[in-house]
Amino acid sequence: MFLAGKTALVTGGGRGIGRAVATVLAGHGARVVVAGRTLPEIEATAHAVGGLALRMDAADRASVQAALVELATRAPRVDILVNNAGVAESAPFDRTTDEMWDWMMAVNAGSAFALCRALIPPMITAGWGRVVNLASNAGLTGYAYSSAYCASKHAMIGMTRAIAVEIARSNVTVNSVCPGWVNTRMADEAVRRIAEKTGKGEDHARRSLEGMSPQRRMVEPDEVAHVVAMLCSDQAKSIHGQSIPVDGGQVMS
Ligand code: NAP
Repeated sequence: MFLAGKTALVTGGGRGIGRAVATVLAGHGARVVVAGRTLPEIEATAHAVGGLALRMDAADRASVQAALVELATRAPRVDILVNNAGVAESAPFDRTTDEMWDWMMAVNAGSAFALCRALIPPMITAGWGRVVNLASNAGLTGYAYSSAYCASKHAMIGMTRAIAVEIARSNVTVNSVCPGWVNTRMADEAVRRIAEKTGKGEDHARRSLEGMSPQRRMVEPDEVAHVVAMLCSDQAKSIHGQSIPVDGGQVMS
């Protein structure tokens, strides 16, 4: 129970990796605030982990600000911030619309920035804090048909590194976790899109994504969640500003 007494905010905690993170952090004793758009999903996770649900649209800065105001009344201190809310859409770069670009940048990078800006200073004042940004190995390298997604995840990692230098003397750490393909709805949607485009069926599409990892499989959400929890421990205080791939060796730094 190394997180007993700590409060964690997990964005996009209603399903997938975010739900796994909420579950693992709560299992280590944290009180978890589960933020997201889809009320039934965030309420279900919050109920399962004995935490709180917080409505927030990460694409809309006003909604993020309103969520922060509500958060202050319900959980006055946030010790752990996990910026996990994310969206992925693929297109050739010359068919990537302004809307797709702005949406992915806003949800994936913009909301993480707004929450870091609001929540890290009080962590520094309190003398302890942990921030984990759910980036992607698409933040460490380029993938075809993913220019906006890759840019948003590179932005998250760049932000993580810059903040890490600025706050290095505090007892607050900030890191990025960089999964490869993870077995969630996001991957299911990619499988569907690839099958549609290639006409080779969903099994073939799924195998092609699995084949991107040297381990020839997708990562399970709880594998990512355990890395997040490790980064939230006291023992991880020297791991700072890092981008940790969790991808079966797909990208090696
Ligand atoms: P997922 O199952 O699609 O979950 C995404 C989560 O983000 C959902 O809870 C979703 O909730 C939330 N979200 C999306 N748009 C939002 C918005 N505008 N406001 C608030 N919440 C929003 O995908 P996942 O695989 O768990 O992804 C979690 C994170 O891991 C993402 O940042 C993703 O980029 C990253 N990642 C995933 C993979 C993968 O292969 N799955 C690989 C590398 C990195 P609502 O829809 O209710 O808003």
